[in-house]
Amino acid sequence: MSRFMNPRFAALRPYVPGEQPREMRYVKLNTNESPYPPAPAVLAAVSAAEVRRLNLYPDPDCRLLREKLAARYGVGPENVLVANGSDEVLNFAFMAFCDAESGVACPDISYGFYPVLAALYGVPLREVPLAEDFSLRPEDYFGLGCPVVFANPNAPTGRAIRPAQVERILQNDPDHVVLVDEAYVDFGAESCVPLVSKYDNLLVSMTFSKSRSMAGGRLGFAIGSAGLIGDLEKIRCSTNPYNINRLTMAAALATLDSDDYYMENCRRIAQTRDRTAEQLAKRGFSTLPSLTNFLFTACPEMSGEQLYQKLRARGVLVRYWNTPRLKDYIRVTIGSPEEMETFLAAVDASREER
Ligand code: PMP
Repeated sequence: MSRFMNPRFAALRPYVPGEQPREMRYVKLNTNESPYPPAPAVLAAVSAAEVRRLNLYPDPDCRLLREKLAARYGVGPENVLVANGSDEVLNFAFMAFCDAESGVACPDISYGFYPVLAALYGVPLREVPLAEDFSLRPEDYFGLGCPVVFANPNAPTGRAIRPAQVERILQNDPDHVVLVDEAYVDFGAESCVPLVSKYDNLLVSMTFSKSRSMAGGRLGFAIGSAGLIGDLEKIRCSTNPYNINRLTMAAALATLDSDDYYMENCRRIAQTRDRTAEQLAKRGFSTLPSLTNFLFTACPEMSGEQLYQKLRARGVLVRYWNTPRLKDYIRVTIGSPEEMETFLAAVDASREER
C-alpha cells in the first residue's frame, strides 16, 4: 500500500477470481462459464454499425433492456436494475442497504465476494454456519435484525432451498433487505422472482455470465420492488450512470431474443452435470446434490488442493478452498460432454499415479 492510500482500506483483502490463463491449453472448469457460445443473433448484434456508434454514450436508463428483462420475468421495468455483472448489483446493494450499525448476515460458506464488500464498506459481517450437510437452514436467519445475503443455489456447494423457505425468512424480518443471489438459478432451481410482488424487502440478483454465455460481456441484473430498485438506481447514477456499454447492451438484447437457445443449453448442462455426478459416484467420490453448472465433490483419498494440482498438471483447471470445512473438495464447472470426459480421464490418471 502506498502512503497515499486511505488507511481505511489497510486491512482490505480483495476478491481473488479464479485464474484466467492467457493460453487456452487448459480445459477451463474453474470459473463456471458456459461451454456454449453466444447465439448467432448476438454475433450479428455486435455489428460494425454498433461499433461505429461507439462515439456516442449508451442509454444511461438502459430502457430497452430493462423493458425486455421485465417482459421475460413478468415484472415492470421499474422492478429491474441492470449492472456491469451481478458483482456490481452486489456492490450497489451493499452500499445502499448495509451499514456499520446493523451489519449484514450471510452463510459462512458462500460466495467469496460478500465478505469483501462488507469489509469495503465497513459493515460487520455476521457469518451464519451452514448445516453439517452444507444446507442452509432458513430459521437461522429469522429475526437477525440486519440485511441478509445468500446465493441460492449456493456456491460453491451447489445446494438450493425452495422459494417457500426463502419466504419464511422474508416474513420473519420484513424490515430488512433479503438479497437472494440467483447467479445459478437457470440450471434447475426455482427462482424467487414471483415473490417480489409480495415482499418489498426482497431483492433477487441474476447474471448473464453463467446460463447466457456472456461472462465476458459483463451483464447482471436485479429484480425487486420499485422502492428497492429506486434506491439502487440512486447509487448507480452516483457511481457510473453509463455502467452498461453499447456493445454489451446490443449483445444482451439479442441474447434475450434467443432465450430458448440458452434455456436449452442449461438443460444440456444439467444433463451433463448429472451424468458426471454418476461417474464420480462410481469412483467413490462424495458429491453434493447440485442444481448449478458445477459440482462440489470430494475425492476419497486426496485433498482438494492435491487433486487440483494433479488435474492442473494434466491441463484441467478446477477450484479448491483451503479452509477447514472445504479442504476435501474441488469445485468443477460443467463443461461440454467432451470436456467432462477429459476431466474424468484426468481424475483417473491422477489417482493411478499415487
Ligand atoms: N454470485 C455468485 C454466487 C457467483 O458465483 C458469481 C460468479 N463469480 C457472481 C455472483 C458474479 O457473477 P458476475 O459478476 O459475472 O455476474
